[in-house]
Amino acid sequence: MLGISRDLDVNSRRIKVSHQARLVMGMIRRFCYTTDRQIMARHLELVNGLDDRAQEFVARALLPFAHRAWQDICSERGKLRFEHDHYMKLWAMTEPALLADFVLLDEAQDTNPVLEEVFLAQEVQRICVGDPAQRSYGWCSAQDVMTGFPADHLHLTQSFRFGPAIAAVANRWLTTPSKRPPGMTVCQFSLSFMPQGRPAITQPMQRQVLVEADHRCAIPTCRATPVELAHIRPYAQVLEHTFENLIALCPTCHTRFDRGDMDRKSMRQYKANLGLLSGRYGPLELQALQWFADDTSRQEIDIPAESTGHSAT
Ligand SMILES: [Zn+2]
Repeated sequence: MLGISRDLDVNSRRIKVSHQARLVMGMIRRFCYTTDRQIMARHLELVNGLDDRAQEFVARALLPFAHRAWQDICSERGKLRFEHDHYMKLWAMTEPALLADFVLLDEAQDTNPVLEEVFLAQEVQRICVGDPAQRSYGWCSAQDVMTGFPADHLHLTQSFRFGPAIAAVANRWLTTPSKRPPGMTVCQFSLSFMPQGRPAITQPMQRQVLVEADHRCAIPTCRATPVELAHIRPYAQVLEHTFENLIALCPTCHTRFDRGDMDRKSMRQYKANLGLLSGRYGPLELQALQWFADDTSRQEIDIPAESTGHSAT
């Protein structure tokens, strides 16, 4: 049906007609997962036993068959099976603008480039849900879209599938993957949320905030890694990213802060602590801030006269 009529001899290998047909259909499938606009030689999977030159030779030989097969698939009178990947690709190439208030991308840790392109092109609010620890579709070119997605990251704090005790154990394995038994998979849920038109935090600013906290959680008793950036006053209120309003927190502390377990005043205190650790404050300011940190209800402090040369309140 594809028009392939003879075996292909390359190096000392013979690629039979049926094998060529499978490779051609594979080219189409791989093409469908990409953002490419037409089938190319590089969509041929790596063929066992071929060096680079032989691979290139086979790809060029099969490319015209792949083009013909794709034409057949796109034709209303085509004879080849019209599969999910095919209409998905055809739809994506129309560059659809979804008529919706928001778009939800589920299993965002396993999104192939063709769907990612459609998702990212939407101008409405975009939300992705998923779990980078549960990637399982790498074999069909799926990628993790959510890690690095410029958005507020919200973590699921309750699961109806299992209780907090199991979640705590699972999260411990997740944060220290090196101690995980081989082959063990664990689950974690996160939710990314990006208000419409919200700009990303610039790389230099991200770096500045991370360096300020030594790439560790800014909560002194925590100091865990990895960290994410949190807005001390919510972005929805301030509508801008400023260094003063950003702090590095680990996902657990970030969640606790979002939930209100830690108040904004304490968070400002922690931010100030980082300032003095990084040399923005002298020892006196540092000590004063520590007093505030020790007693958050305190509104003023007495600074001993010998510190400043005069008495102050
Ligand atoms: Zn923390």
